Amino acid sequence: MQTGRLIVLTGPSGVGKGTLLRSLLARHPELHLSISVTTRPPRPGEVHARDYYFVDHSRFREMVENGELLEWAEFALNCYGTPREPVENMIREGKSVILEIELAGARQVRETFPDALQVFILPPREGELERRIRSRGQDSEAAIARRLQRAKEEIAAAQEFDIQIVNDDLDTALHDIEAALFSPLQP
Ligand code: ADP
Ligand code: 5GP
Repeated sequence: MQTGRLIVLTGPSGVGKGTLLRSLLARHPELHLSISVTTRPPRPGEVHARDYYFVDHSRFREMVENGELLEWAEFALNCYGTPREPVENMIREGKSVILEIELAGARQVRETFPDALQVFILPPREGELERRIRSRGQDSEAAIARRLQRAKEEIAAAQEFDIQIVNDDLDTALHDIEAALFSPLQP
């Protein structure tokens, strides 16, 4: 993998992006995860500046207006965005940066960083997303319904991405992501 690369990881809520990323980052300290800003309240156990920068809507709006975000989108009634400066600095320093973002944000990055590697994570079968979201046990019924509705739209766009990876067996999916990131055949 060349240095200073931007990697976009997208996939429906509950597909296992966070789980895969935790393993990937533990195994490859040379990869850096961009920490997003969100208006969503923290889930139990989530820590400010580690999992997200948790901000209110007026601060988020200010960041959008000041051009502080590389991309941003609304998702299930909350706003999410990627702080521009840390990502641009890391890329400039030759570091590889991963953005774990939803579809609308991935589409924005495709315009501004056409060389970014875009990876989409798919569930193995229908029904599995709902099972995983419920097993995570952190979303209300209304939030689950919104996330499952959005999942259909996102999965329909999977082919827009450079690579599609099915997260059935976790280790296999992790291996597939590693192959995609580190294969010398990748452009
Ligand atoms: P996302 O970040 O995409 O919303 P999470 O990483 O939070 O998804 O995973 C959602 C739930 O699914 C978690 O409870 C996680 O432990 C579980 N999970 C993730 N990957 C797998 C897998 N390959 N097989 C079974 N369960 C999984
Ligand atoms: P969650 O609330 O489950 O943490 O995240 C909801 C969705 O927002 C996920 O699909 C996640 O990938 C996406 N997301 C997280 N951070 C960002 C971001 O900075 N920008 C965009 N566009 N989406 C994000």
